[in-house]
Amino acid sequence: MKQHNEVPYKIYLSEDELPKAWYNVRADMKNKPAPLLNPGTHQPMTFEDLRGVFCDELIRQELDNDTAYIPIPQPVLDFYKMYRPSPLVRAYFLEEKLGTPAKIYYKFEGNNTSGSHKLNSAIAQAYYAKMQGLKGVTTETGAGQWGTALSMACSFFDLDCQVYMVKVSYEQKPFRREVMRTYGASVTPSPSDTTEVGRRILAAHPGTSGSLGCAISEAVEAASKQEGYRYVLGSVLNQVLLHQSIIGLETKAALDKYNIVPDIIIGCAGGGSNLGGLISPFMGEKLRGERDYRIIAVEPASCPSFTRGKFAYDFCDTGMVCPLAKMYTLGSDFIPSANHAGGLRYHGMSSVLSQLYHDGLMEAVSVEQTEVFKAAELFARCEGTLPAPESSHAIRAAIDEALKCKETGEEKTIVFGLTGTGYFDMVAYGKFNDGQMTDYIPTDEELAASFAKLPQVPEIK
Ligand SMILES: *Cc1c(COP(=O)(O)O)cnc(C)c1O
Repeated sequence: MKQHNEVPYKIYLSEDELPKAWYNVRADMKNKPAPLLNPGTHQPMTFEDLRGVFCDELIRQELDNDTAYIPIPQPVLDFYKMYRPSPLVRAYFLEEKLGTPAKIYYKFEGNNTSGSHKLNSAIAQAYYAKMQGLKGVTTETGAGQWGTALSMACSFFDLDCQVYMVKVSYEQKPFRREVMRTYGASVTPSPSDTTEVGRRILAAHPGTSGSLGCAISEAVEAASKQEGYRYVLGSVLNQVLLHQSIIGLETKAALDKYNIVPDIIIGCAGGGSNLGGLISPFMGEKLRGERDYRIIAVEPASCPSFTRGKFAYDFCDTGMVCPLAKMYTLGSDFIPSANHAGGLRYHGMSSVLSQLYHDGLMEAVSVEQTEVFKAAELFARCEGTLPAPESSHAIRAAIDEALKCKETGEEKTIVFGLTGTGYFDMVAYGKFNDGQMTDYIPTDEELAASFAKLPQVPEIK
């Protein structure tokens, strides 16, 4: 029996210990992430090019590859205090159940109404939109976590919030939709007939249930056609990773309190924002040659951007209205099979993480859905928190690493990101409980067909 007193079950930081600045890992990267390109001219997007779509201050953050620390504005810090610092939990009960000598910690980000880490960036983005004097913002949402977070942030700063929600989720997941409406957002199922690109997609694919890529195209168009509106995005972009660094900074501060140095850091990867945020300060040490860590991205086998994707310039959206980003991608046309981890279904990946992965600074694994839910069930029963399906990808990988330690007898320290709770994902849990969950893995032919449509972009120097 392990003693449960090595460190407290939950390591909390005090309010005063809340980090006062975000950390920009790009400042320490030798190979910077590739710039966003204009889809027409293939030239790097400048501040002026991006102004019609994004908020000014967020563009500055997007393009800033050099400033290591960016102060968190006081109103954002004050909002953070309502639900941060978030706890770092020692998973004593899970360790015991697994019989592993490994020490497992998880950083829990589900402790707010939106139920995930996405609020960390939503509140920052809403703040900068407000400071610019905008009327409102538009965005897309898949399963609804980002839309929920953004609607909370917008209502706090009294901004209009227009959400394009992937149609299948709009119809099948009414609860998050109603949370958004409760916070005052308007929610439109996508593709819709309210935008040109939506009408074009509907004409080409009548009866489509939508995708994140379609919803992004609609939200971008809606922002560019309304005076005083800009588009905001909940993952993938450099600015979002910057805001999410709060997760990693707090994790590092909590570990430092007890002189704990992790061996392995694990996070699920959809667009890469929670993982990028969690690993940022650790990756910084690694990039500066101060310390080494194993860092593992975990993605669904049904949407394997890192493990089977191509590192290439691609469209960020289906309607091809957004700039091109260089990233590990499955092709902007790729629509993953119905997977229950809605937040991990994006075809691409953060450019920052893509570059780090390409440079061999982090690893990636893909896991199948049924195995993910087995891990979720075990975790829920041991640790008391019902995890989101997305987060459960990280749990799966953490359990697998802990079981390897059981074989070798190594006492490794594993830290993973528990990005959210699964209360709105009970249909997925129901499928699992009924033994009706399936694992769909795309074939090489399907991926090849999607890669064939990647845009041809000449090498830029
Ligand atoms: C959106 C979401 C993710 C994935 O997004 P990333 O940008 O890859 O972090 C993971 N977990 C939860 C709970 C989410 O809502």
